[in-house]
Amino acid sequence: MTGHASYVGRFAPSPSGPLHFGSMVAALGSYLDARHHRGRWLLRIEDVDRPRVVVGAESAILRTLEAFGLEWDGPVVRQRERVAAYEQALAQLQAAGKVFGCACTRREIADSVLARDGSHRYPGTCRNGLPPGRAARAWRFRTSPGEVCFEDLAQGRLCEDVDADVGDFVLLRADGLFAYQLAVVVDDGEAGVTHVVRGADLIDSTCRQILLQRALGLRTPRYLHLPVVVNSAGEKLSKQTLARAVDELAPQTVLFEALVFLGQQPPAVLAREGIATMRSWAIDNWQREQVPGRRTGLLSL
Ligand code: GLU
Repeated sequence: MTGHASYVGRFAPSPSGPLHFGSMVAALGSYLDARHHRGRWLLRIEDVDRPRVVVGAESAILRTLEAFGLEWDGPVVRQRERVAAYEQALAQLQAAGKVFGCACTRREIADSVLARDGSHRYPGTCRNGLPPGRAARAWRFRTSPGEVCFEDLAQGRLCEDVDADVGDFVLLRADGLFAYQLAVVVDDGEAGVTHVVRGADLIDSTCRQILLQRALGLRTPRYLHLPVVVNSAGEKLSKQTLARAVDELAPQTVLFEALVFLGQQPPAVLAREGIATMRSWAIDNWQREQVPGRRTGLLSL
C-alpha cells in the first residue's frame, strides 16, 4: 500500500434509479483507488438535473453502498443544496467575460453539426451579442480553438478541441437549471477532489471540465476512467436495458464479478468469503494499472 495523505476521491451517482452492476463498478473502482492510497472517499448525489431524479433512488443508493460496506467520509453532498455555489461560479465567469447569454432555442441549433457525444455543436450565433429583440435563455461558456489534453490513468493520453467538437457549451440551461458540467467542476473543486475515478461514458466531458477548471482557477484532478459495463448488444446498462439492481443479486457475487471486471484477478477462494474479507483483500491488492484501458467491457453476470 502506498501512502498519499492528500488523496481525495469521490463517487457521484445521479439518483435516476437504484445502483446496477455498472454503477457498482464505478462505486467500487473509485472506493478502492481511494482506500488503497489511504485517501478520503466522498459521496455526492448529483441531482442537479431535477427532471431526471427518481423518487426513492437516493435512499436506495445509500442503502446499497452501506450494504456493501462502502463507507464514505463526511456528510453526503447534494447538488440541490449547492445552487448558491454554482451561481457564484457563473458570476465569476461573467465578470471575466468567459460566458455569454444565449437566446437560441434547441430548434435553432438543431441544424448544426453533430458533436462527438451526439449533441449539436453550437454554431456561435449569440457569442458576439444577442440578436435584436431576443433575450438570453441560457448561459454558455466561450470556447476558443486549440486542443485540451490530459493523461488518463487507465485510458492514456486524450486530447480534444472542444471548440471544434462541441463549441460554446451551456452552463445555465434555458429551464433555469445549472448544467452538470459546471456543477461537477464547482463541487469537485470545493471538496478538494484530487482523483476522479468514474465511468468512461464521461470521458468526452472531461476536456470541457478542464476548461472550466482553468477558467475558475481550480486545480485539475487526475482522471481514471473505468470501462463502462455493456450488455451483449453493446448497450450501457440502465433501466432501459433492464439492468437488475445490484441488491437483487448476492453481494459476494457482485463484488467478485466487479473485481474481475476491473482486472483485479481475485483468487477463486475469495468468492466463498464474506464481503468484509473480500473488501479488505481488494483494498490491499488494488492495482490501478490492471484496470483495462478500454471504454467498455461486457457484463459477465
Ligand atoms: N453523476 C454522474 C453519473 O451518475 C457521474 C458524474 C461524475 O462522476 O463526474 O453518471
